[in-house]
Amino acid sequence: MSRTTGKRIAILALHLESNRFAPPVGRAEFEEKVLLYGDAILADSACGHPRQGGTITGFIDAMNDTGPWTPVPIIVADGGAAGPITQDFYGELEDDMRRRLQAAMPLDGVYFGQHGAAVSTEDPDPDGAMFAMARDVVGPAIPVISTLDLHANVSETMIQATDLLIAYRTNPHVDQYERGVEAAGAMREMLDGLRPVTAFLRLPLVAPQVCQLTASGPYGAVIEHGQTLIDDEVMNISILGGFTYGDTPHNGMAFLVAARRDIARARSVCRDLAEQIWAQHERFTPNLTPLNSCIAGALDRANNPALPAAIIADVADNPGGGGRGNTVWLLEKLHRAGAKGVVLGVFNDAALAAEAHAKGIGASFEAHFNRAEDDPHSAAFRANATIRHLSDGKMVGRDPGSRAGMAIDLGPTAVLQVGTVTVVVISIRQQCIDPGYFENFGVSVADARTVVVKSRGHFRAGFRPYFSPGQVIECDAPGLTSPNLANFEWTGFARPIYPLDPETTWSPPDW
Ligand SMILES: [Zn+2]
Repeated sequence: MSRTTGKRIAILALHLESNRFAPPVGRAEFEEKVLLYGDAILADSACGHPRQGGTITGFIDAMNDTGPWTPVPIIVADGGAAGPITQDFYGELEDDMRRRLQAAMPLDGVYFGQHGAAVSTEDPDPDGAMFAMARDVVGPAIPVISTLDLHANVSETMIQATDLLIAYRTNPHVDQYERGVEAAGAMREMLDGLRPVTAFLRLPLVAPQVCQLTASGPYGAVIEHGQTLIDDEVMNISILGGFTYGDTPHNGMAFLVAARRDIARARSVCRDLAEQIWAQHERFTPNLTPLNSCIAGALDRANNPALPAAIIADVADNPGGGGRGNTVWLLEKLHRAGAKGVVLGVFNDAALAAEAHAKGIGASFEAHFNRAEDDPHSAAFRANATIRHLSDGKMVGRDPGSRAGMAIDLGPTAVLQVGTVTVVVISIRQQCIDPGYFENFGVSVADARTVVVKSRGHFRAGFRPYFSPGQVIECDAPGLTSPNLANFEWTGFARPIYPLDPETTWSPPDW
């Protein structure tokens, strides 16, 4: 339990990964996900299946375990992955946070559970603005620490306004809780007087999101190597792949090395790690399977039981990267091909789910997908369907998985049999993280020949018990999160940048 004595530490967060090409989001979208004020933050964290991210829960638990303190919960706003935050709602949030921080003074520390890849409709760096606001309120002497997602885009303002930034080291993100615990340990050291120093480098490299897995490949190897360099002096190494679709001037793989005292040591480690990545930057190119080959493969598996089952990631329509979760390229072609044993989820269409709930289990009707969708990628699709299962869509994330133990709300959910394809239709946009997104609704993953998920990579941890990495297919379909960077009109990046500008060069700074 939290203590009512000891140092006063503010807790707040804007947790948003903004795809600049996706529709803007305001208060309504945050309320649908997570928007907690004051004591509701502590109540959610202690409830067993919290809605807010694991970093904040890890931070609170570890502070509770390591001595007296007084948590000062401010605001936690988590919009997941979506479009830019409207400048109006951002301004409201920042003003409210500032007022609450001022009212809570004197504070001894500030902890942010930030994502770190937000953009607003007017500002490419609202995370930096928010950190600077907190620094302005508490002054230069009070520790300000933030955890960050591995897909954060790190700006100079974010570095200058904080004392320490700690990023996830896994993708899928299965270490969020541990990074919150680490932030609490650092906070304790800082309350005892430590002032860490950070070396920071950014490479001109926007690695496509599918090239940022940590279980294998150059990115994971350098993160792992970095961890062998942690010692009494080097306290944290964060290597952030970044979020390409933010399209900001501070995009690019970021290297942060925090040392307890020795900035020269931090710089030397930072430069070495950045050089190791740059030496192999040409490996950061996606290896996607063409859409038609994905359909042919599904037919082969349907017709030949000797072939292993496979999972197709619809990486270009990943709600975890701001995708709408409702493109029909795969659905329409698999349906037309009549590929048997295909299950597909989770498809975001609140109007269709509501219609299915009104008709009831067993009813057949003409399902009209995307009747209320404007995005040009999300074309309409009509087909005869039978309603197999209905649910309120409330569940708990499974272990292993990047939402293990967390409360998940898919909104009213319907399982539709659309020809040979079984589709899980949800009402609150999000990516498909683990087999529970099918099995909780009576759809067997074990019996499927082909599973299609609306996810870029986070499904890999949860579905690992069914599918080894060799059974994963990344599909090259159109969409808001296509790893084909040539599909977008980039305006924010500092150019040249790899792989958009193949001749990009980089040399380390003369520190
Ligand atoms: Zn991420």
